[in-house]
Amino acid sequence: MLDTQKIRMDFPILNRKIYGKDLIYFDNGATTQKPLCVIEKMNECYLNQNSNIHRGVHHLSQEATMAHEEARKSVQKFINAAHDHEIIFTRGTTESINLVAFAFGEAFLKEGDEVIISTMEHHSNIVPWQMLQDRKGIKLRIIPINEKGELDMEAYKNMFNERTKLVSVMHVSNVLGTINPVEEIIRIAHTHDVPVLIDGAQAIAHTKVDVQALDADFYVFSGHKIYGPNGIGVLYGKEKWLNAMPPYQGGGEMIATVSFDKTVYNELPFKFEAGTPDYVGSVALAKALEYVSAIGLENIEAYETELLHYAMEGLSKIDGIRFYGTADHKGAVISFLVRDIHHYDMGMLLDKLGIAVRTGHHCAQPLMQHYGIEGTVRASFSFYNTKEEIDTFIKAVERVSNMF
Ligand code: PMP
Repeated sequence: MLDTQKIRMDFPILNRKIYGKDLIYFDNGATTQKPLCVIEKMNECYLNQNSNIHRGVHHLSQEATMAHEEARKSVQKFINAAHDHEIIFTRGTTESINLVAFAFGEAFLKEGDEVIISTMEHHSNIVPWQMLQDRKGIKLRIIPINEKGELDMEAYKNMFNERTKLVSVMHVSNVLGTINPVEEIIRIAHTHDVPVLIDGAQAIAHTKVDVQALDADFYVFSGHKIYGPNGIGVLYGKEKWLNAMPPYQGGGEMIATVSFDKTVYNELPFKFEAGTPDYVGSVALAKALEYVSAIGLENIEAYETELLHYAMEGLSKIDGIRFYGTADHKGAVISFLVRDIHHYDMGMLLDKLGIAVRTGHHCAQPLMQHYGIEGTVRASFSFYNTKEEIDTFIKAVERVSNMF
């Protein structure tokens, strides 16, 4: 199993005291902490290598360009994409989905066409499609969920018709923890010749993702949720789709030639990377992927599942606790409410005890509306968390509950 104590030494922030208490960081679903090697890599880039990429003949620029393109290959390897030009660097999951909604929408969608999403989606996988609805008159079809917070696969199967043009669903829910059967979702869509986008924001750091084995048409994630820096993310897209889609933004990098009469776009991946890329971000992200790979995603998944079961068992003993998301196949995310204690009060009081959890609607207001609630308290774990932290957390939730 994992040597958590050794791993924790890589994350200096975990030694912080908050209101005089040891920090317990259970907000990993929002963002993960960064190991020293990632921070050092960013420093090294700025200290020794900084230069604009792809344009310079000089040495520094060539080094930086090579580092950025090596980072692309690291991402390709990490998710087992067939080609490195199928990896587009973006600002994150949100930008990746917006890119697909815009560019796939421009190329393939017209009034009356249907896109399937689900009840549990994050706003970033709802709003870009609604914008397309306003722009092009497409229709959204919403996969319902059951009481455990699992997708209703029978309903999903029956949603397809000749107008269905795309399915866009999350791999793991940031609220419920549900691990969706994405392989099955993609298989079913493909029997109707419909491509599938998977929002991997909450999956990428917790389970092995192989885009070819999944046969995903698009897979998107954010660097900051996998121990990498903020502001860099990934869009994986199958070559055949990316080639058929128009650029999302215009500017430098994404062109082959420009004249006032005619502009010829660059080839993949540059066609979708207008402007100066975040080369420090890409290089540091590659470092984060290397770090995670060294620990091993199988080990991470097994350890975090153990933390999940341990926490669920302890929390279930608290009088009046209600869980949102009890799927059979669930990642290390726990959403709950205790009696009628407001999620915000619970979060504020846990904070005073040094415990960082997230409260609110978690950018999933339609899911909150489904449950008839405003928000939940959410604890989400990482491989650097421990059972001792969970013990302290459970006692703290009990203590707060008894105060009301
Ligand atoms: N999708 C899911 C499932 C998420 O959890 C998040 C982040 N909370 C996002 C999308 C958006 O990610 P980002 O803000 O990094 O673009």
